[in-house]
Amino acid sequence: MATELDREWVRSLPKTELHVHLIGATSPQTVVELARRHPQTRVPTDLDELQRFYTFRDFDSFVEVYQAVSGLVTAGDDVTVLIDGLARDFAAQGVRYAEVTVTAATQLADGIEPDELAEAMENGRRAASERGVEIAWVIDVHGGLGPRVGDVTIDWLTGFAPPRTIGFGLGGPEKGVPRSLFAPHFAAARELGLRSLPHAGETSGPESVWSALRDLSAERIGHGIASAADDELMAYLADERITLEVCPTSNVCTGAVTDLDHHPLRRLMDADVPITLSTDDPGMFGTDLVNEYVVAQRIADLTNDEIISLVRHGIDASYCDEQTRKRLQDELQEIASADRSL
Ligand SMILES: [Zn+2]
Repeated sequence: MATELDREWVRSLPKTELHVHLIGATSPQTVVELARRHPQTRVPTDLDELQRFYTFRDFDSFVEVYQAVSGLVTAGDDVTVLIDGLARDFAAQGVRYAEVTVTAATQLADGIEPDELAEAMENGRRAASERGVEIAWVIDVHGGLGPRVGDVTIDWLTGFAPPRTIGFGLGGPEKGVPRSLFAPHFAAARELGLRSLPHAGETSGPESVWSALRDLSAERIGHGIASAADDELMAYLADERITLEVCPTSNVCTGAVTDLDHHPLRRLMDADVPITLSTDDPGMFGTDLVNEYVVAQRIADLTNDEIISLVRHGIDASYCDEQTRKRLQDELQEIASADRSL
């Protein structure tokens, strides 16, 4: 009963979602619909079978499934449908502003024209805004595919970046994919005015986070949970106010941590490392942002004040415009004050 009350309260908070991948966020129902339109792929066309398909053995099997689902998205209209579904989910969870990651090179390789992709994203963003959800874009590369996809992505960004593109990311496997491999692409992205937002320290150790900071000038880190094994790194992140985008359910589903009891969220928070909570791939992991706050509360024994602080920091660590930032902070403050006066 208490948990349900907590969920309602968390839902009411004006949240930001700063680490979520468009493909991985797609609801299983939408994936099944797309799979029925493309029956030649290995993605199941039945919901129960899809749920089994979404049981990952390890990070590599997750990447394999992710790429198969991504291959279903072959037209601009598909992209707009996904964004619309995502915006509806965000609105239902009280997510007011989201930085959504799109792996442009993968979608282009699957047959979407460069201008068609940009136009579909802009159409989706405008429709989301009408639902009261502001979307900005992070364009990432799948590191396992090598530097060539970085080149394709920078070319697309140079010619076609849609409005509200704010960051450049790096996802996929870390082992065998040193962060420095993409240093030239991050330099080019920064030249284009984009923020450096790579994944690091998800499936490898703290050295990957150090490399993201040193070689890619990272301004936030996707996951970064391996930082908890390095006191010096935690002190650096705390001093420099570099935020980790922490996604607890994702970390269990992909095997990045063995179980929630071994999740380092509390250790990171105790070291004053800036944290924002996110979902990563909620459609694939059967979660949503409200649930991530509930999970985080359970694993780190968070007080309501700490939850409010996490939401507040999510607003501060985002790259929304200043007007939006002030509006969300004021709204949050109002809820926090009303809670205290009860
Ligand atoms: Zn991610």
